[in-house]
Amino acid sequence: MNANTPEEKAEPKKTNFIREIIDEDLKTGKWDGRVHTRFPPEPNGYLHIGHAKSIMLNYGIARDYNGKFNLRFDDTNPEKEEQEYVDSIIEDVKWLGADFEGRILFASDYFQQMYDYAVDLIKKGKAYVCDLNADQIREYRGTLTAPGKESPYSNRTVKENLDLFNRMRKGEFANGEKVLRAKIDMASPNVNLRDPIMYRIVHAEHHRTGNDWCIYPTYDWAHGIEDSIENITHSICTLEFENHRPLYDWYLDELGVYHPQQIEFARLNLNYTVMSKRKLLQLVQEAKVDGWDDPRMPTISGLRRRGYTTEAMKNFAEIIGVAKRDAMTDIALLEYAIREDLNKHALRAMAVLKPLKVSLIGYPEDTEEVMDAVNNPEDASAGTRKLVFGKELYIEETDFMEDPPKGFHRLVPGGEVRLRYGYIIKCEEVVKDSEGKVIELKCSYDPESRSGTGTSKKKVKGTIHWVNAKHAVKAEVRLYDRLFTVEDPASEENWLENLNPDSLITVNNALLEPSLADAKPGLNYQFERTGYFCVDKKSFAAGNLVFNRTVTLKDSWTKIIKN
Ligand code: ATP
Ligand code: MG
Repeated sequence: MNANTPEEKAEPKKTNFIREIIDEDLKTGKWDGRVHTRFPPEPNGYLHIGHAKSIMLNYGIARDYNGKFNLRFDDTNPEKEEQEYVDSIIEDVKWLGADFEGRILFASDYFQQMYDYAVDLIKKGKAYVCDLNADQIREYRGTLTAPGKESPYSNRTVKENLDLFNRMRKGEFANGEKVLRAKIDMASPNVNLRDPIMYRIVHAEHHRTGNDWCIYPTYDWAHGIEDSIENITHSICTLEFENHRPLYDWYLDELGVYHPQQIEFARLNLNYTVMSKRKLLQLVQEAKVDGWDDPRMPTISGLRRRGYTTEAMKNFAEIIGVAKRDAMTDIALLEYAIREDLNKHALRAMAVLKPLKVSLIGYPEDTEEVMDAVNNPEDASAGTRKLVFGKELYIEETDFMEDPPKGFHRLVPGGEVRLRYGYIIKCEEVVKDSEGKVIELKCSYDPESRSGTGTSKKKVKGTIHWVNAKHAVKAEVRLYDRLFTVEDPASEENWLENLNPDSLITVNNALLEPSLADAKPGLNYQFERTGYFCVDKKSFAAGNLVFNRTVTLKDSWTKIIKN
């Protein structure tokens, strides 16, 4: 584990009920002072922000207690898993800064051990091969209020079970023909203990083990063994596994092997999006979005492509904390976390999304003035850049109104406004096309009012951004919004009908200050007064300059920038 930075050490870590358990364990010496956590994704999709919470939690604990953190793929379901998902998960976990010190582990590496353990349970009379089909097993299982009934196969001899299990493994039976079940208690009030399935026959190629196996362990059987083999101390999972804990414990106790402690916490639910991998996969497969990393997806790769930073994800995880009860988290908190971070380091720039031409009356033709613009008012070390001012400019169409409502402090006929870093201008004439659309404003300017150096003491209420008509760079800008129009789309019967039709608005001919022609993926920008943006890395790779809006500015249009 890398040493903490001084800043990390100095900052008191927020505690939570899991850390309290660990503090107690360290006091009593329960795990000989060790702390070892893991993040165990199934490689059946890309990771989402809920997984990020789990990663931050598990890794954060390992880091703060000088422990270890494993990345382990729970690859026990060959029909749904792919190498592409493995690769994306490794990339995402690394990006989140969770240091697994090279320990990329796979459940499939333990298949032989799991098989041997199953044989041990059969020998103890604690597991049997069952020929009931899936429907029958469900029927025999009973309900929450009625006990189940014994399988007619539960009293097979050890010898017969060993033989059948061996033949299951050898591939003598078809999918679904037989299963291996633990022999526990068909009358248990906990349905999970009613002779749960340990192995299924699945004739499918596995992305790592190929055709070595045609029986695959179930989650419950596999998970505790994986934790045990890796010497995990605290096996942290989400609340839906609370009722599975007795089974986790039963397996490890019956095997008599090293036994980590399972602890459950509340999963992250975020409004205006969906988080189930099945639903995310459907969005991708039905092309409702541009792949798993579409900037509207709650996936880590989507958020990264949208311009989210590792720091913002960390802050978000800190803000939401760790609870024992499920709740819905407002997506506004995530937006808050990214704004907080971007405000600190995003480079400021001027970009006009809907250009309206402004020509300055009396400004000499072919004269250009160079102005120094601050790259980041929050960070002097970010330096300054040059802006070139001229006679013909573009401003934002929405910064001009012919019939303004009260309190509109931007440009109006006969009104004055300051151009950021430039002069105070006055709208003298509104030029319209044959359909009455405003196409140009002719404005006078006060030569004494140049920002910073001018002698004029005049003050105006509004400051607006602009670009130079001669030098501006054209680009596509994508404005993203929430993917769904309802708070909890997953609870809607036809959840796909609640997609937000305006979740992506493409602006084709935005005009940017020339410095943005050199913008690169991975940097964050604040287009002044408009929002936070980043270069879309997919388009960039294809040779196109496209900007993604990460998030709007909180007070986008009301804030008046002093200058
Ligand atoms: P599936 O939808 O396929 O069940 P899953 O989202 O539970 O998938 P896993 O790959 O099993 O995905 O999850 C890996 C780890 O991430 C698990 O420990 C799980 O508890 C945790 N996790 C998954 N979703 C969330 C969530 N929304 N909030 C917090 N942790 C989560
Ligand atoms: Mg799961």
